Amino acid sequence: MICFNHQKKQDSSICIVCGKGICKECIIDSGYALVCSEKCLKRHNMFRSLEDNANLTYETQKRNTLIIPAVLIFPGVVFLYFSKDYDYYLFIVGLVFLLLGISLYIKNLKWAKHIK
Ligand SMILES: [Zn+2]
Ligand SMILES: [Zn+2]
Repeated sequence: MICFNHQKKQDSSICIVCGKGICKECIIDSGYALVCSEKCLKRHNMFRSLEDNANLTYETQKRNTLIIPAVLIFPGVVFLYFSKDYDYYLFIVGLVFLLLGISLYIKNLKWAKHIK
């Protein structure tokens, strides 16, 4: 392949965004990859920020896998504990919290398997 901008020069790399062959003179180093032009650099940076955001979302969701069920399970256990004196209302509320928390946890675990 030859350089997209310099028809006589042999390319030494390929733009990661558009796939054009580029010679040493034309290469722009984004810090992560080599691109051919300012336009491709902009696109590359946009992709990178999208990727960063997606990773951040995944990390947050992974953490929430435990936190949100725990927020339900903890009061559930507390309610069940205080309902031992035959307080049926507390017992039912505690049971609902506990079951919701556990089912949410199982659901989240299944879901979290899809993301690494
Ligand atoms: Zn390009
Ligand atoms: Zn060139």
